[in-house]
Amino acid sequence: MFADVFERLREQHGPQEGWWPADSRFEVMVGALLVQRTTWRNAAVAIERLKQVRCMTAERLAHIGTDELRMLIKPAGFFRVKATRLKKLARFVISAGGLDSLSGRQTVELRNQLLELEGVGPETADAMLGYVFDRPVLVVDAYTRRLFARLYHPSPALSDTALKRDAEATLGTTQALNEFHALVIAHGQRCCSPTPSCEPCSLRAICGFEREGQSRLA
Ligand code: SF4
Repeated sequence: MFADVFERLREQHGPQEGWWPADSRFEVMVGALLVQRTTWRNAAVAIERLKQVRCMTAERLAHIGTDELRMLIKPAGFFRVKATRLKKLARFVISAGGLDSLSGRQTVELRNQLLELEGVGPETADAMLGYVFDRPVLVVDAYTRRLFARLYHPSPALSDTALKRDAEATLGTTQALNEFHALVIAHGQRCCSPTPSCEPCSLRAICGFEREGQSRLA
């Protein structure tokens, strides 16, 4: 299923390289926290403001005044909470000896340590693992759950664990899994939205939700 979905989505939406633009791995981590509960556009404004004052390093973020940090990231919303989380992230990276040191840790150990950070749930931890630490993991987000619930319909939706296991076993590499995640988001925004546009969808032939709709019309 995953290889087929991957090929069909790539055919429809094209390559998604550069989907997560960032000048550094630390910027990806910061972006993963700033984008929560807001849009990428708003998060990008906050990231740009941090870069303008040369604050896109763990050391600078750890030492900048909290009020100044709050003002800088205000465009991303929830700026008080996010400022606290960014400072904790920065201190975590510094105390671990930097990103290169963290990169030497086993994936399970690293994932558990990321999950201990305030504001980092499974989705954010897996995004960091995939896009910062080059680990072959699937990011399961709302787009992924909705798409696969519809594809497998009327069978029960797979759990996040099962989705990750199957995708990681099938797609294998970090590059493929990151690309797959980007394609699923593109598809969720252009076709498989809450009210889906099935007409142009490349997955129609393998979609249980679409099949059921067609049989109702027959
Ligand atoms: S056919 Fe419709 S419901 Fe199925 S994946 Fe495509 S857009 Fe989503």
